[in-house]
Amino acid sequence: MPTAVMEDYLECIYDIIQTKGYAGTNDIADKLDIHPSTVSRMIKKLDEKGYINYEPYRGLTLTEAGELIGKRISSNHKLLEEFFEILGIEDEEIIDQDIEGIEHHLSSKTIDNILALVDFFTENPARLEEFNKFKSGH
Ligand code: MN
Repeated sequence: MPTAVMEDYLECIYDIIQTKGYAGTNDIADKLDIHPSTVSRMIKKLDEKGYINYEPYRGLTLTEAGELIGKRISSNHKLLEEFFEILGIEDEEIIDQDIEGIEHHLSSKTIDNILALVDFFTENPARLEEFNKFKSGH
């Protein structure tokens, strides 16, 4: 089982690869706001665990196992952003902090239910308005 920190790296690498095709150490360091030497150490670890294909001084890509995890965490993150928007949470710091914590700990059953709720409110804006009214009187 990868740790939450490993999952964050795989999520980050996955997102970079979606736009660039590969991820460099500096891309990851920039995105995670971590020193490149720390990133290099984690990359070696992820390589040993079989999550990435790493060639020093060249870009890295994800193995099948690494991509599965990166993709899952990345899509959890995006779904939670939509969910938090529906909840009306606007403080970016709280959003980031909470999502970074929760995204690692959701079962697929819970994800399915959150997804249904997001879809429901997206397709029924009048209901969302009702909910917002109810909430403001709470
Ligand atoms: Mn995340």
